[in-house]
Amino acid sequence: MFLTILHAKAESAGREAIAVDPRNTSRTCPNCGHVSKENRPTQEKFHCQSCGHNAHADTVGATNV
Ligand SMILES: [Zn+2]
Repeated sequence: MFLTILHAKAESAGREAIAVDPRNTSRTCPNCGHVSKENRPTQEKFHCQSCGHNAHADTVGATNV
């Protein structure tokens, strides 16, 4: 049951339009504003799929906040 709930949350978090998800800050390109989970190939790295901006994910999140 607990695992099922976690799985459901993970799926909803992967959708595009989650304006209130605080994790979106780490998916938003500080250079062009493009938001995509694809911008985060790994937990640590940020690579914008729109403009190609590269950064450390922690830096990106801090910048957007
Ligand atoms: Zn960008």
